[in-house]
Amino acid sequence: MSRYDVIVVGAGNAALAAAVSATENGAERVVVIEKAPREMRGGNTHWSGGVLRFAFDDPREIGELLPGIEDEFENFYDGISPYPKEDFHGDLMRVTSGRTDPVLSKLLVFNSFETVKWMKQVGGIKMEPAITLSAVKKDNVMVWARGLVVRAEHEGVGLSRSWFATAERLGIEIRYGTAAMELLMGDDGRIRGVKVRDDDGISVLNGRSVVLGCGGFEANVQMRTQHIGPLVGAAKVRGTPHNQGDGLRMAMNVGAMPWGQWSGCHATPISAEWGDFAPRELTDRSNRLSYVYGIMLNRKGRRFVDEGEDGALFTYAKFGRAILAEPGAKVWQIFDSRVVHLLEPRYQTSKPITANTLEDLVEQLDIDDRAHALDTIDEYNAHAREIDDGFDPTRKDGLSSRGLALEKTNWALRIAKPPFYAYSATGGITFTFGGLKVNEEAQVIGTDWRPIKGLFCCGEMVGGLFYDNYPAGTGLVSGATFGRIAGRNAAAAG
Ligand SMILES: Cc1cc2nc3c(=O)[nH]c(=O)nc-3n(C[C@H](O)[C@H](O)[C@H](O)COP(=O)(O)OP(=O)(O)OC[C@H]3O[C@@H](n4cnc5c(N)ncnc54)[C@H](O)[C@@H]3O)c2cc1C
Repeated sequence: MSRYDVIVVGAGNAALAAAVSATENGAERVVVIEKAPREMRGGNTHWSGGVLRFAFDDPREIGELLPGIEDEFENFYDGISPYPKEDFHGDLMRVTSGRTDPVLSKLLVFNSFETVKWMKQVGGIKMEPAITLSAVKKDNVMVWARGLVVRAEHEGVGLSRSWFATAERLGIEIRYGTAAMELLMGDDGRIRGVKVRDDDGISVLNGRSVVLGCGGFEANVQMRTQHIGPLVGAAKVRGTPHNQGDGLRMAMNVGAMPWGQWSGCHATPISAEWGDFAPRELTDRSNRLSYVYGIMLNRKGRRFVDEGEDGALFTYAKFGRAILAEPGAKVWQIFDSRVVHLLEPRYQTSKPITANTLEDLVEQLDIDDRAHALDTIDEYNAHAREIDDGFDPTRKDGLSSRGLALEKTNWALRIAKPPFYAYSATGGITFTFGGLKVNEEAQVIGTDWRPIKGLFCCGEMVGGLFYDNYPAGTGLVSGATFGRIAGRNAAAAG
C-alpha cells in the first residue's frame, strides 16, 4: 500500500495544474494517476486549441506572456482591444443567460490573468499569439477577438507536453494506465485514498487528500444519452475517449452533490466526414466555425439558426447541438468566393464541394429537398446585403438581412459570386457542463451542503460555470484556476 500527501486523479490541464500547485505549496509525495496509457495521455487538453481567455486592461500587459512579440508582429498592440474583468464576466453572463455560478464565475474571471501568468512562470508553459483562430487582417493591422489573443505554444499538444515536463521536473510521480475506480472514505468522513486498476490488478493508494481532475462524461454514450438526450448521445466525440464520467460517479458514490447543467454540453460544428472519435494527431482540426460568413442548410434545404447572431466564438459551442437536432444530424455550410479566404485554416482538412452555379452546387449535396434549398438561398439573397453596405469580418458589423422569417443579423452578405463552396458539418461533443458542487476553495460539497473533507475537484468536473453555451477559451483558464486552488488546499489539508 502506497501513502501520498496528495493523489491527483487525471492528467489534463486541471489535474497537472493541481499537482504542480500542491508541490509548490509544500506537498512532498504527489502522485498523478492517468487512466490512459502514456501514448494517449493528457485528456482533452491534448486535443485542445490551447487558447486562453483572460481579462486585461491594457493590451501591453500581454507583452509579458509573449516576449519579443513586437519584433514578430508590426503594430501588434494596435489591433488588440482591452478586455476588462467586467467584460469577461459580462460575456459569461450573456452566453449563459445569467446562470453562471455567481461566486465561481467571478473567481475565474478575476484570477484569469494571474492564472495565465502562473501557468507560464510556474507551469513552464510557453505562449504564442492565437493567430489562426482569433485574428483577422484589416487595413494591414491584425484585429484580435476580444480576450482571446494568447494560446499555449503548439496549442494543446504543447500545453500538455509542457505540463508533463514540469511535473516530471518537480519529481511528481505519474502512473499511466492507472484508472481510479473508487474513493475510499474513513469513518470520520475523510477521504483516505483511491482504489485503482492497472495492468497488475486492483490496489489501493492512500493519501491525505485527493484532487479529482478527470474530466466529464462526454465520451460515455450511456451517460450522454441519459443526461443530455439521444441526439447528443449519438454525437461524435471531439476529444479523448477516456473521459467517461468516472470521477463524477465516484464522487457521487461518497455523497458529492451534482451541480450545474447536467443536460448541457459544449458541442460544435465539425466536419461530418470525421469518425466517432477525433484522431489524436489531428487534435481540434475537425471544427467548422466560419459559418458566420455564409449560411447553413439542413437536409430539408432550410436554414435553422441565425448564423450571424454573434461572433462564432460565442455561438459555436451551442450550434453544434443545434445541428444534432436537424435531420440526419448533418448540414451544409455554403460560401461564395468573396468570403472563402476568410475561412479558418482548419477547413483545409476536408475538400469542399464546388460549382460555378448554385444549382450545380446544390445538385451535389445530399439534401433531400434540393428545390427547397435553392429557394432558401434565393430568398436569402433577396434580403441579404452587399459588401459596400458595410460588411466587416473583423467585428459584429450589424449587416443584417432585412425581411426574412429567420434573419441573419450580422455579416449577411449575398451568396452571389462564383465559384460557390459547400462544406459538410455535424455536431461534435467537446465536453459536458454538468459537474460537482465545489466552493471557492475547490472543496467538493456533499449533498448535506458540507465540504467532503480531503476531497477537491477541478477542470471539467466543476459544475455550474456553463449553461447552454460557453465563451471560447474559458475551459483551460478555468481548469488551471481551480486546479491551482485545489492543489494548494490539498497540500495544506491535514
Ligand atoms: C477539440 C477540443 C478543442 C478545445 N479547445 C480549447 C481551447 O482552445 N481553449 C480552451 O480553453 N478549451 C478548449 N477545449 C476544452 C478544454 O480542452 C477542456 O476544457 C480542458 O482540457 C479540460 O481539462 P481537464 O483537465 O478538466 O480534463 P482533461 O484534459 O480531459 O483531462 C482529464 C484526464 O482525466 C483522465 N481520466 C479520466 N478518467 C480517469 C480515471 N478514472 N482515472 C484516472 N484518470 C482518468 C483522462 O485520461 C485525462 O487525462 C477544447 C476541447 C477539445 C476536445
